[in-house]
Amino acid sequence: MTQHLSQALQRIEASPTTAMTDRASELRAEGRDVISLSVGEPDFDTPPHVIQAAKDALDAGDTRYTPVTGTARLKEAAALHFRRDLGIATDPSQVIITAGGKQAIFEALAATISAGDEAIVPSPWWVSYPQMVRFCGGTVVPLRTSAANGYRFHPSELEALITPRTNWLLLNSPGNPTGAVYPAEMLRGIGEVLRRHPQVLVMSDDIYAPLRYSDAPHATLAVECPDLADRIITVSGVSKSHAMTGFRIGVATGPDWLISAMGRLQSNSSGNPCSISQAAAVAAFDGPQDFLADWREAFRRRRDMVVQRINAIEGLSTPVPDGAFYCLIDAAPLMSRFDGDDGKLALHLLNHGVATVAASAFGGADGFRISFAADEAVLAQALDRIEKALS
Ligand code: GLU
Repeated sequence: MTQHLSQALQRIEASPTTAMTDRASELRAEGRDVISLSVGEPDFDTPPHVIQAAKDALDAGDTRYTPVTGTARLKEAAALHFRRDLGIATDPSQVIITAGGKQAIFEALAATISAGDEAIVPSPWWVSYPQMVRFCGGTVVPLRTSAANGYRFHPSELEALITPRTNWLLLNSPGNPTGAVYPAEMLRGIGEVLRRHPQVLVMSDDIYAPLRYSDAPHATLAVECPDLADRIITVSGVSKSHAMTGFRIGVATGPDWLISAMGRLQSNSSGNPCSISQAAAVAAFDGPQDFLADWREAFRRRRDMVVQRINAIEGLSTPVPDGAFYCLIDAAPLMSRFDGDDGKLALHLLNHGVATVAASAFGGADGFRISFAADEAVLAQALDRIEKALS
C-alpha cells in the first residue's frame, strides 16, 4: 500500500535521543561494544520501596482501568510533591497523571495550539519540544542562548520575539541538554514581560528539579509569579528523580481548564496511565526521599569528572552544568574534519563505541550531548574512547 502519512506527521521526525539509543541497543545486540551516553536515564536501581509497591499492586489485583487522569491516591501524592519539592500550592483536582512527562507536554500543546500559533522555545532545547509544536501545526520561534551567557536569556530577548500569535513559552530548568538553571530573579523578569502579553501560556518543565548541584533552592515560575498561575502548567515526574523511566509516569499541574482539556485528549487516546506504575509512583512521592542526596552527590562527582576530562581534550569544551545530567559539548574547532556536520561527528563517535546525540538535534550546532547518568568507570571508558576517536 502506498504510504499515506498525515501532513502533521510529515512535519516531524523520530526523536533523535531515542533513535540513537535504539541504534546503540541494536549494535550491542549484534555483539558490538557500544557505551550509550545518548539517553537521559539514571543508572541507579529504582528504590526498593517503589519496587515493592509495584509488586503489592500486582498481588492485590490492581490490574484494571483507573480513572483516565490518574488515581485519587496518586493525585494526592503528586500534589504533595508539587508543594514539598517545588513550592507550588496545588490541589489534587488540578493535577493530571500521564504516561511520562512527555505525554503531559504533548497534551498541553495539542490542546491549545492551532495552525499559525507561535511557541517560543529557548534553544538549545530538548529534542521533542519543537517537534510537538510542529506536529500541532504551530510555528517554533527559537530563543537563542549560548554557552557564553550560561544558556540563559534576558527577558528583553524574550519580549522581542513575542507577537500577537505567540501562545506558548516553553521553559525547562534545570535544562536538557545544557544543564542551565534559571535563577529566581530571571524568572521574575520573565514574569514582568508575560504580564504585558496575556495571550502567552507557559510550560514549566521541572522534571530535573531534584538534580541541582548548587545550594540555591529550586526556582519555578508558578512560585515566583503566583499572579500568573492561571496560565502556567508545571510538569514533573518520577523518571529522573526515582530512576523510574520505564514506569512512564509524569505529573502536571495547572489551571483547571487546561488540565481538563488534557484529560479530554487523554480519555480519547492512551486512557489511564498504567495502574501498577501509578501505585509505584505513590510510593515514590510518599516514601523516603533521603537517597536523593546520595544520588545528587554521585551525579556531581560524575559531572566534575566529565567536565574536567572533556575540557582537557583538544578541540572540545563544555561549561559546568548546574543541574540535570547532561553536558553539551562544543567541538567547533574539529568540525572541518566532519564537513561541518555534527551528525557525522556523532556517527564517528558511535563507530568508536560511544553513542551520543548531535548538538544539532537540540537546535544547537557543532557538538554533541552526553548523559553522565552512568557509573564512573563506564564514563571514564567512554571518555577514553572519545579522546582516542578525536585525536
Ligand atoms: N529526556 C531524555 C533525554 O533527553 C529521555 C529521552 C527522550 O525522551 O528524549 O535523553
